[in-house]
Amino acid sequence: MSTERSNNFIEDIIEADLAAGKHKTIVTRFPPEPNGYLHIGHAKSICLNFGLSKKYGGKTNLRFDDTNPVTEDTEYVDSIKNDIHWLGFDWAQELYASDYFETLYQYASRLISKGVAYIDDSTSDAIAEEKGTPTRPGRRNKYAERSIAENLQLFADMRDGKYADGSKVLRAKIDMSSPNMLLRDPVLYRIKHAHHHRTGDNWCIYPMYDFAHGQSDSIEGITHSICTLEFVPHRALYDWLIAQLEIFPSKQYEFARLNMTYTVMSKRKLLQLVNEKHVDGWDDPRMPTISGMRRRGYPAKAIRDFADRIGVAKRENMIDLGLLEFFVREDLNKTASRRMVVLDPVKLIITNYPKGDHETLFSENNPEMPETGDRLLHFGRELWIERDDFAEEPSKKWFRLAPGANVRLKSAYIITCTGFDKDADGNLVAVYAELVANSKSGHDTSGVKAKGTIHWISVEHAVTAEVRLYDRLFRVEDPSSEEGDFKSFINPESLKVIKHAYIEPELLKAMQGEAFQFIRNGYFVLDSKLSADNHLVFNRTATLKDGWAKPA
Ligand code: ATP
Ligand code: MG
Repeated sequence: MSTERSNNFIEDIIEADLAAGKHKTIVTRFPPEPNGYLHIGHAKSICLNFGLSKKYGGKTNLRFDDTNPVTEDTEYVDSIKNDIHWLGFDWAQELYASDYFETLYQYASRLISKGVAYIDDSTSDAIAEEKGTPTRPGRRNKYAERSIAENLQLFADMRDGKYADGSKVLRAKIDMSSPNMLLRDPVLYRIKHAHHHRTGDNWCIYPMYDFAHGQSDSIEGITHSICTLEFVPHRALYDWLIAQLEIFPSKQYEFARLNMTYTVMSKRKLLQLVNEKHVDGWDDPRMPTISGMRRRGYPAKAIRDFADRIGVAKRENMIDLGLLEFFVREDLNKTASRRMVVLDPVKLIITNYPKGDHETLFSENNPEMPETGDRLLHFGRELWIERDDFAEEPSKKWFRLAPGANVRLKSAYIITCTGFDKDADGNLVAVYAELVANSKSGHDTSGVKAKGTIHWISVEHAVTAEVRLYDRLFRVEDPSSEEGDFKSFINPESLKVIKHAYIEPELLKAMQGEAFQFIRNGYFVLDSKLSADNHLVFNRTATLKDGWAKPA
């Protein structure tokens, strides 16, 4: 799959703006609300905003949209910064909308002085009722008649804490019969006696999104303010406020938010999964969060390639989770060191290999990167192999072990299966085989053919580790659109814990974030949270092939 692509519509706009001399350079921003961890949808927005400034030699600010005091937290601020850096981007400035509270207050006062904003004492229900409906125009109430002087005084008194929450709001005076409901005298400020994570108790009035976002853009000289499609109706208000205030003319552009199959992406829902312990925190490897994907072993590059490939759409759509996994596999296939790990062990005894003997063999670290050389493998009479690599009664297309069949032990010898043992309950306990003479990998002169290759580990040298296999967190394509609670669609098989897998001793050297391909079992990474020196835990990042792909 090629990652070359043509311009998207935002790039076309930027190129036209630059060509027309509208801006010397472009400035974009990524504006998260610090009320949760970032998810793959945010990653899309990050790659887009930072990608554009990189492409056109401009800059991107990180602006925390922290105008809602109640839900925000510095834990989220720290995780957001960490995630953006990990994705491979750096911001020009770290900014907080809350730093603009004083300026925003002055801006609001300016609107009052121009006679285009007023204090309304109505209840929120009354305001909603008077707004009308899309087919019925709204009507103004008596408060809209207040004088400029009175409005200025009331606004100052609101700021001074003289009124209770909900008793007054500041509204813009625009058009109560506009077909765009957001222009029907929208609320700009509300009273909220709440502690803010940065400004503490300095403020008891807070600007609404529409009176903070565009103004913050303008203060920072953002040339292209990119947001998701649900903000299309807000654009008229965005432009109106900037025009009334006569401040830097930032412009808003909208693209379709990223929706992905088998995933929920709203922070509210992700928070529920965390709080109700359906997952092990925001960074659970099954979560669509950036921190979860990092812990799962997704390379940052794969996420960037995915974001670039899906492009910028103007219409809502649903992206297949398999596409993200495709980029993950594509990257890991190039970078991951190959190792042998047996997840469900059964003992293989090579009866013609002398007891007590063993030897060292070599195997490539990564055939995609020959420069990474070979690693040592210990070989002996007793090996662990996967239980399901043996069949007592093989089907016609069975190329692995079965009585009388040949198989190659990866990077070692061809063996011929001579028998097996079962316990009283019928469980396989051992498989017996004989080594074929002169069949050593790379020096094979035996003339014997083996159709299949299996992985193995020397019993004497094997190290125990915990391995965690993940599957999709939800068992339906769009859990949010189904009837009923989205949590009832959680895939009960989304995590399988193997307490005693056998790994190559070489894996004791595994480093945080280092990618491995456990041959035939998938891509794996050390779990950053659960691993300890004497207890290694590996996460499966992805299977080798897409097990969910629809048959062609
Ligand atoms: P959520 O709906 O998940 O709570 P949000 O939009 O409230 O997300 P913000 O912190 O306000 O979260 O988002 C920061 C930026 O990321 C915004 O510019 C927003 O448009 C963008 N963004 C959020 N979700 C997506 C998505 N699914 N696809 C693309 N961009 C997104
Ligand atoms: Mg938001």
